[in-house]
Amino acid sequence: MKYLGIEPQKPKIAVFDFTGCEGCQLQLLNKEETLADFLSAVEIVCFREASSLCSDDYDIAIVEGAVSRNDEVKRLEKIRETAKVVVALGSCACFGGVNRLKNEFDLKAANKEVYGKDPKETINVRPVKDIIPVDIEIPGCPVSKAEVESLICHVVWDSPFQLPVYPVCVECKQRFTTCLFDIGQMCLGPITRAGCNAPCPAGGIGCWGCRGPAVEPNYKSFFAIVKEKGFSDIELKERLNFFGAFGEVNVS
Ligand code: SF4
Ligand code: SF4
Ligand code: SF4
Repeated sequence: MKYLGIEPQKPKIAVFDFTGCEGCQLQLLNKEETLADFLSAVEIVCFREASSLCSDDYDIAIVEGAVSRNDEVKRLEKIRETAKVVVALGSCACFGGVNRLKNEFDLKAANKEVYGKDPKETINVRPVKDIIPVDIEIPGCPVSKAEVESLICHVVWDSPFQLPVYPVCVECKQRFTTCLFDIGQMCLGPITRAGCNAPCPAGGIGCWGCRGPAVEPNYKSFFAIVKEKGFSDIELKERLNFFGAFGEVNVS
């Protein structure tokens, strides 16, 4: 694909999977209407879901998944040494994701309960940025392909790349969805970063915060509304902890 008649330099991209469901990688191969353009703008040198080839010569490492074993720590460090740019792809990579629920348990006891006499090596789940410096994060479970494409345009043509700073409620209202708080459900939309186009409220399910906090979320007002609507601190904490994206926010 040419831009103003000039063939742009294609960045070499490698995609790596760590602890996760691989749904974010699958997003890269979805959306057929733009897939050909996407693939013509970059040179993919390593991507297990798409190719059996794999090279250690790459500019951008796209890392999906969290870290939950020691060998993953070493692998990530090697990726950081090689890549000019590291992108954390998806909520597992950015926050630990649903895997982080594991950290609530005694890992030794859980390992024994599940695997008996054949325990597996495991450590507390951590996001990629806890192990190596990350240049760009794209949250979401899974990520939005449009945001990945916007990032690629930014890298290839230096076009602006900016995740929305406002919360999911803005997109929810643009879709004319009835607020779920008005029908007795909890929703993290007021404090969660937009960019997904609010599919969960539109489908009748409150937001679980997979994209992490919006910029400067008003936690105080939001927690007051949650309490006013009759939800307990335990229900609120459960929802905030689900993707591990809200850290140690004090709900009281
Ligand atoms: S963020 Fe969600 S879709 Fe992506 S790898 Fe993790 S669990 Fe899968
Ligand atoms: S349903 Fe959720 S996202 Fe939509 S307006 Fe209500 S609180 Fe905001
Ligand atoms: S509405 Fe919330 S949980 Fe659903 S995709 Fe958007 S950020 Fe994620």
